[in-house]
Amino acid sequence: MNSPKIKILPISIILMFLMLFVIPNIGESIPRVPILGFHGISKTKIPVLQSSEGYMDYPQKQLEQLIEYLIINNYWFLTTQDIYDFFLTKSREIPAEHRGQKYIMLSFDDGYKTVYTNLLPLLSKLEKKYRQKVKVVLFINPGTLANKNSIASTHLGCPELREGLQKGFYDIQSHGQNHRNLTELTRPQLVNELLRARIDLRKCTQDLDPELKVASHLAYPYGAYNKQVESYVTKYYLSAYLYNDEILEYGCLKNHYKIPRLMVNRQKSPKQLIKIAESFQPIKNKTKNQNKC
Ligand SMILES: [Zn+2]
Repeated sequence: MNSPKIKILPISIILMFLMLFVIPNIGESIPRVPILGFHGISKTKIPVLQSSEGYMDYPQKQLEQLIEYLIINNYWFLTTQDIYDFFLTKSREIPAEHRGQKYIMLSFDDGYKTVYTNLLPLLSKLEKKYRQKVKVVLFINPGTLANKNSIASTHLGCPELREGLQKGFYDIQSHGQNHRNLTELTRPQLVNELLRARIDLRKCTQDLDPELKVASHLAYPYGAYNKQVESYVTKYYLSAYLYNDEILEYGCLKNHYKIPRLMVNRQKSPKQLIKIAESFQPIKNKTKNQNKC
């Protein structure tokens, strides 16, 4: 009578072990948010070999395909402050309307005029079509902004920045004053690049930005940083972004001044970018995910 029980017992122990420790971990991944780093937006799809100059530009049509996919699939377009509050410091709870959504950040570096001529109209068009405002992050060098005398400039000017901010599409952040490699500067030059950029961007947007969200975060020009750069950046900015083609695994990121971004150029198709967007993983179980760091 006792022998069947003896056989059943080890099997039930094995099953319990599987249910508790093995099965929950199958398919569970580290929580991650893709942050895409674009530059200019071109009207046409120029073959790479014909235009090395516009190599970093991304075609407007293909960007439209990507953003439409993201809207239809219920993505939340994060700002730099969202990343800081909800994922890095975790100082705020994710608002109810965003729970269950997938997250992504679209960032555009260097303030090219095409962000105004080709991206802003696209965002307005998609807002009308889907009744949703897509937020994009702009990392700007105020020293290269066009002024009234530089009509042919390849960069946008303060009025164009203000227009996108006023319409609620832009999250305007710093990329240093003059796009200098911060690791090659003397201390006074470094302070000037960091501080001047913040002052000038806030001067351009002050009446539209009462909470001083503009220029609170930085993207290192060329993604270049070292210990000295980081120590000064921490004085003037809340967080800083790299350009290293890595994905943000926010459950593990301890340093708010080394936020990874994925590089985007015209060689990446919307399909490839969608695949990257789909690599988003939410936090499911805090303790387990933290153990994987
Ligand atoms: Zn740049």
